[in-house]
Amino acid sequence: MSLLRQPILLLSRSDRLQDLLTRLPATARMVAGYVAGTGTDDVLAVAEELAADGLSTSLDHLGEDTRELHQADATVAAYLELLGHLPARGLSRSAEVSVKLSAIGLALPDGDRVALENARTICRAARNAGTTITVDMEDHTTTDATLGVLRELRKDFPETGAVLQAQLHRTLDDCRGLAHEGSRVRLCKGAYAAPESVAWTDPNDVDRAFVRCLKILMAGQGHPMIATHDPTLIEVALALAGRHRRPQGSYEFQMLYGVRPEEQRRLAAAGEHVRVYVPYGSQWYPYLVRRMAERPRNLSLFITSLVSKR
Ligand code: FAD
Repeated sequence: MSLLRQPILLLSRSDRLQDLLTRLPATARMVAGYVAGTGTDDVLAVAEELAADGLSTSLDHLGEDTRELHQADATVAAYLELLGHLPARGLSRSAEVSVKLSAIGLALPDGDRVALENARTICRAARNAGTTITVDMEDHTTTDATLGVLRELRKDFPETGAVLQAQLHRTLDDCRGLAHEGSRVRLCKGAYAAPESVAWTDPNDVDRAFVRCLKILMAGQGHPMIATHDPTLIEVALALAGRHRRPQGSYEFQMLYGVRPEEQRRLAAAGEHVRVYVPYGSQWYPYLVRRMAERPRNLSLFITSLVSKR
């Protein structure tokens, strides 16, 4: 995170920049570093490779902020197709899916109901495939609605994973509410711009908030999913696991496809449960911009390659 983070994140909503970038060859190379490909076969192949290396996966069909019902339906259909393949490919145990509610209708009229119904459909298919879903957390204006849908979903599908963003002031309370038995909770720093009125904006404050949240989740009865590449926070998590005598597998580490892959394998080799978040699909633009905002060095590498290889 840096001073550049908020301005870069604003670019994720620029249609003109998206049009321009999509047509440039340098973009394809950058996308390939973070995205498994465009089709179901692509993501299944990556999930198999990672499983062979002892890594679990959470597969994410890219797309968000859907404004049309038919797009939401298409996203649901894509998840059903993906989930349908998992048992035959031997991936039911290692792969789950991550779902953004805005991709399945949250932003539509009567969005809470539409997203809940669509999420239920995906949960049913996941259960039939022998796996689970995790509901990604998006922009802070959607936190209440997302947790509301999650609460409803968990009545029938208690295995559904939640995501909390350490950067939000409210998250300490949300952690307390979700640290109960059987509750799978992914804790991340938060990838979306948020104002000071609701969020820590200094990176050091976000890190401290992450540790406070982690202490609650690791002391609780649930299954914490520690989603960070930050070496210090990984060390803190391991120390807390020791302090609370948590066996390996009663919590898991999560990292993004293409980010610190050696660390993913190092932790797995040490017996830790590591899950890689693997996005796929053609709507990679906002996802890629968020990855650049996390590491502006990526942006400068990208601009250099644009200038030199266009
Ligand atoms: P940072 O301080 O950003 O990074 C720590 C170190 O990791 C960096 O110094 C660098 O070495 C490496 N690193 C980090 N990012 C990159 C990168 N893009 N490229 C190369 N190296 C990098 N956010 C949400 O808001 N909602 C979600 O639902 C959500 N789900 C997530 C799921 C998973 C599995 C993960 C890992 C993250 C998720 N995030 C989500 C994103 C998260 O909120 C952060 O924005 C992101 O993980 C970067 O934060 P960090 O903890 O890795 O720490």
